Amino acid sequence: MRWETVIGLETHVELNTDTKIFCSCSTAFGAPPNTQCCPVCMGLPGSLPVLNRRVVEYAARIALALNCSITPLNRFDRKNYFYPDLPKAYQISQLYLPIAREGWLDVEMEQGRKSIRIHEMHMEEDAGKLIHHPDGGDTRIDYNRCGVPLVEIVTEPDFRSADEVVAYLEQLRSVLLYLGVSDGKLQEGSLRCDVNLSVRPEGSQTLGVRTEMKNLGSFRAVRRAIEYESQRQIRILESGGRVIRQTLRWDEDADQSIPMRTKEDAADYRYFPEPDLPPVELDEAFLTDLRTQQPELAAQKRARYCKDWGLSAYDARMLTGQRSLAEFFERTVALGAPPKKAANWIMGQVLRQLSARNLQAQDMTLQPKVLARLIALVEQGRINRNTAVEVFDAVFDGGDPEEYIAAHGLERISDCAQVRQAVEQVFAENPRSVADWRAGKEKALGFLVGQTMRMLQGKADPQTVNKLIRDRLTEE
Ligand code: ADP
Ligand code: MG
Ligand code: ZN
Repeated sequence: MRWETVIGLETHVELNTDTKIFCSCSTAFGAPPNTQCCPVCMGLPGSLPVLNRRVVEYAARIALALNCSITPLNRFDRKNYFYPDLPKAYQISQLYLPIAREGWLDVEMEQGRKSIRIHEMHMEEDAGKLIHHPDGGDTRIDYNRCGVPLVEIVTEPDFRSADEVVAYLEQLRSVLLYLGVSDGKLQEGSLRCDVNLSVRPEGSQTLGVRTEMKNLGSFRAVRRAIEYESQRQIRILESGGRVIRQTLRWDEDADQSIPMRTKEDAADYRYFPEPDLPPVELDEAFLTDLRTQQPELAAQKRARYCKDWGLSAYDARMLTGQRSLAEFFERTVALGAPPKKAANWIMGQVLRQLSARNLQAQDMTLQPKVLARLIALVEQGRINRNTAVEVFDAVFDGGDPEEYIAAHGLERISDCAQVRQAVEQVFAENPRSVADWRAGKEKALGFLVGQTMRMLQGKADPQTVNKLIRDRLTEE
């Protein structure tokens, strides 16, 4: 029998607001433990939460990008559970009326485009972090992360493979980065996902019993966990057993999933409406504003680059891989560079320089006007392509291409008289080669061209040199 894997994802996204969701503590990553806390995020009696407006704005922008319906009157709920990283003993989340429902994200994959349905998205606060002593000694708690704003994005069980899941996560990450609402760093926990997975006989329409895997900190872990868990479930079913619904923890070092607990129901959390916060009202004016301010996302840019500028799908994908690279490209084109030329320069030379320096496009000092100028100089024939690359490398960290060209005498020789003079000199110095060519040795022409180019320090147009030499040889 053949089996089909079915996966649904719950993804937590840390929003990059300056302050926490219900207090004004800083959200900066990496501060010394327990230095970014106050009575509100520590849950001290008598303290009251105040909702950070920016969190609502960011969440709504994500919801719009994911084509969701927005709940105009949404509300927070208390999710009660005791755990040492949660000093309040409850988390403020949204269960009954989440900010958004029923959207989708189109994901580009090698096999084509697939639409992943979004079930719902809600806002909530993060918990603190437990730091276990590596030798199995004590456990310490850092409360800095308590109250950092999160959205949780829940998909329908639409994935059928690890490739689809990873493609979705990459696409989601790109949306978040283009919106500027999260730094999307997996390694710092800004993007964390839980994988819900079941298997069923191929062709079956009913869902199998699922497990939920937590603690997946990298795309690699997501991939490994999916492969491992689907094999584990298939083995159980093939030997006549039953999969039990439970929560597993993925152990990246051991490369296997470890049971954490049997799954609790919503009832276990004793959810009830959060009495300390009023409902969140999103009026039409607010949403209209957000809609008009929504930036163009990578997928839209890709479509536009192909349609309006005739770029290939591959080029469009490369250029939109980083938002700042796409912006650099568009600004270069706006300054008059032909799109295909600008694209080639960026994908070749700019990315080469960035990778040599281990830099991201956003950290680059090179200005679009410098690249646009350089491309124009090549187009006008004032420098040739090889010279242009030399100039590009020289001004990558700063400097003016024209000044550099002037200072190093790199401008192409367009004065025919000067080229002719060099040809005369080469002919005078190489009578053998001239005679060879006349005797039918075509190769001698290449030698004469080479000598002339050398005399002109490579700054002449090889085509012109070639023509002048041929003319001169046939003259007599
Ligand atoms: P819970 O209440 O346990 O969080 P949900 O119904 O909210 O469960 O679903 C959580 C995630 O699990 C969703 O992404 C959903 O698509 C996925 N899911 C639900 N049932 C299955 C299943 N049988 N197999 C795979 N994924 C599933
Ligand atoms: Mg859930
Ligand atoms: Zn605080």
